[in-house]
Amino acid sequence: MIDLNIEHGMFLSAQLKQPVGGRTEVRASTLVAAAGGFEANIEWLKQYWGEAADNFLIRGTPYNRGAILKMLLAKGVQEIGDPTQCHAVAIDARAPKFDGGIITRHDSVVFGIVVNKHAERFYDEGEDIWPKRYAIWGRLVAAQPDQIAYIIFDSTVVTSFMPTLFPPIAGATIAELAGKLELDAGALEKTITDFNAAVQPGTFDHTILDDCRTEGITPAKTHWARKIETPPYLAYPVRPGITFTYLGTRVNKQSRMLMKDGKPSANMFAAGEIMAGNVLGKGYAAGIGMTIGSVFGRVAGREAAKNARN
Ligand SMILES: Cc1cc2nc3c(=O)[nH]c(=O)nc-3n(C[C@H](O)[C@H](O)[C@H](O)COP(=O)(O)OP(=O)(O)OC[C@H]3O[C@@H](n4cnc5c(N)ncnc54)[C@H](O)[C@@H]3O)c2cc1C
Repeated sequence: MIDLNIEHGMFLSAQLKQPVGGRTEVRASTLVAAAGGFEANIEWLKQYWGEAADNFLIRGTPYNRGAILKMLLAKGVQEIGDPTQCHAVAIDARAPKFDGGIITRHDSVVFGIVVNKHAERFYDEGEDIWPKRYAIWGRLVAAQPDQIAYIIFDSTVVTSFMPTLFPPIAGATIAELAGKLELDAGALEKTITDFNAAVQPGTFDHTILDDCRTEGITPAKTHWARKIETPPYLAYPVRPGITFTYLGTRVNKQSRMLMKDGKPSANMFAAGEIMAGNVLGKGYAAGIGMTIGSVFGRVAGREAAKNARN
């Protein structure tokens, strides 16, 4: 446990409470906060998502509970970012609650369709190139009943995407697959029949916004739409996989924290997820998480060192 001693925007010391009951005080001339977001704090997530947050899976460490972020905000640091916004992808529903890591993520959405527990499609699976859209699927699944969805595809595309830790669930018929997923067989058959009937002729190319699209169904699949008709039929059950939250400490160009009165802190800096909201309002493009950590880590480190020497 850490307690930060901050007065008038100036970091003075950190109290480290030892598990055995002791206490250690650490004094430093500057502080760089890089303790992640609050994605692992389900109770905090529930403030914005309600009970749905119980069904979220956290892709990384269980220790990013936002304790340092909360302390900094309580002690006068200005916050930035929408607390409901986060990087959230569709990960396998069979993944562990925490730390499932990269191998539980499913990149197969563009090769099939996605249905909710009523076997209904709810979003354009082919809206844009995957690195620009993969991080919307966690939020989309979070908005579905019971926060569960199923990526459905057929045997023709199984080698088109990165394999994941969990094998797909297979059925020789749509009805058999529906049974294994505990979906209404008639409803899934209708969704797939309607989808197949809406698919227009085109030339498939998943590296561009191709002309394979549907016509006459809602939601449309605007690219990479191909019929699902070659058994075995396959599915991945998915849940929202929260990578990191965007609410953070406001910083200036030097990565120096700004206080609620608008003044820069005397000696506190931040880098990484804990200040992600300065860069990310909503949405995501691949690679920005590591970029925020490394770019602002370097800036905060440089500026903190400069500050300490003065
Ligand atoms: C599964 C997964 C895949 C990802 N894939 C990508 C990708 O492909 N590309 C990309 O750009 N980004 C990716 N990211 C995001 C990227 O990894 C993170 O944005 C980045 O690592 C964040 O760095 P950070 O230093 O801010 O936080 P972290 O690396 O999470 O470090 C925070 C540290 O603070 C510690 N901590 C928290 N609270 C306390 C406390 N109270 N006291 C002491 N220590 C504490 C935590 O234990 C942790 O070690 C991925 C993240 C995950 C989880």
